[in-house]
Amino acid sequence: MMPEHEQRFERIASEFLERPAGDYAELLRSGHVSSPDGVDPDEWREEIRRNARQDRIRVITSRVGDGAVATLNRKIPDDRAMDAMRAALDRTTALGDLEERSAELGHKPGRWLGHDDESIAVCDRCGARIYAPHGALNIQDGEALTERCPSSPNRAENPDPPIRSAPIHIPGRRSSGLRQRDDRPPTLLAHAALSPG
Ligand SMILES: [Zn+2]
Repeated sequence: MMPEHEQRFERIASEFLERPAGDYAELLRSGHVSSPDGVDPDEWREEIRRNARQDRIRVITSRVGDGAVATLNRKIPDDRAMDAMRAALDRTTALGDLEERSAELGHKPGRWLGHDDESIAVCDRCGARIYAPHGALNIQDGEALTERCPSSPNRAENPDPPIRSAPIHIPGRRSSGLRQRDDRPPTLLAHAALSPG
């Protein structure tokens, strides 16, 4: 991943963690959306309202039990809603394409995180990353788009047998015989030129 993309990735990961990227699009598409589990409902409502303000769209959000819901105010002019919806759909489609590309490499990207014009995702299995600025859909970056997932159960080469509750011991088979790879993602620290002394 390019250093400038890596920087953006780290920033979104730390500042916008748990903030949903796809719920606003879902709201525009279906007219209503509920907050997902594990997300702070008040932060979620604020994020939805912030998106709506930016598009000058009226939404109604409210707390329901432990979560929250948002509803599109149908009194808004249709053309404005349509423009915003089209943009959100384009974004959703673009992110879906990236998910597909990474899935072809065996990755299992989790929930998209992000804000107005950037999104990030991380493979649930190996931690490989995707960075995607929305403004320039031809720019995407991350290991999950270029490298095969080392933890995919479906990888064609070197498939591991599924682990049963009663393991079968195969004579001569050594766990150290499995190919080990260092797949730790490079961190910003690696780029920090720390001069010793
Ligand atoms: Zn992976």
